[in-house]
Amino acid sequence: MEPGTLVYDQRARRVGEYQDRSGPHVMLRPVGGGREWQADVAEIRVATLDERLSAGVRALNERSREGLSADPTRPPVPVPGCAACEELAVRRDRARAAFDGSAVTDANVLLRQHQRKEHGGEPASGRRVFRYVPYTIVQDASALPEYQAYCVSGADADCGASSGPCPSPGEVEEWQRRHTQETRHLRYRRSFADYAVLERQG
Ligand SMILES: [Zn+2]
Ligand SMILES: [Zn+2]
Repeated sequence: MEPGTLVYDQRARRVGEYQDRSGPHVMLRPVGGGREWQADVAEIRVATLDERLSAGVRALNERSREGLSADPTRPPVPVPGCAACEELAVRRDRARAAFDGSAVTDANVLLRQHQRKEHGGEPASGRRVFRYVPYTIVQDASALPEYQAYCVSGADADCGASSGPCPSPGEVEEWQRRHTQETRHLRYRRSFADYAVLERQG
């Protein structure tokens, strides 16, 4: 088992980070830091997603109550219910499982960046209390995705001609071909936009 794996100790009834093993015993560390404890190998199993999430929430809440600043040497904890956090945490788990240290670091950097942007900084630096509110992000079916091309040809300034929003990439290409035929312009910036909504689960 990899150090840092979150496991559930059935005797202590809590989730801990696996540290290491000696004989029939393993050392576990509370999520978010604190005093390690010893558990029996036979009594631990890999924590479920729910257990990991609620342990993460508890740690965040404890830390924000204590007003401690986030420890930059500790890996960031995903904010429960946030799909982006969870995705990066899964990526980090996979990297750990593959012993890919630099990919683990990358995932941590991305997770910190994302948390600074979307969750108002390192979760514990403010005094925010996170609640467990799971959302799913889905494409908004009531609004069509938009494809668009914008002509950026021209020596001094962009030509600026635009296809306008189109419902399919094919129409954008058709417009580009026409525009190139008429103007000999060759370079375009293309963009795609869609709408997404967050749906509360449960
Ligand atoms: Zn997030
Ligand atoms: Zn043009």
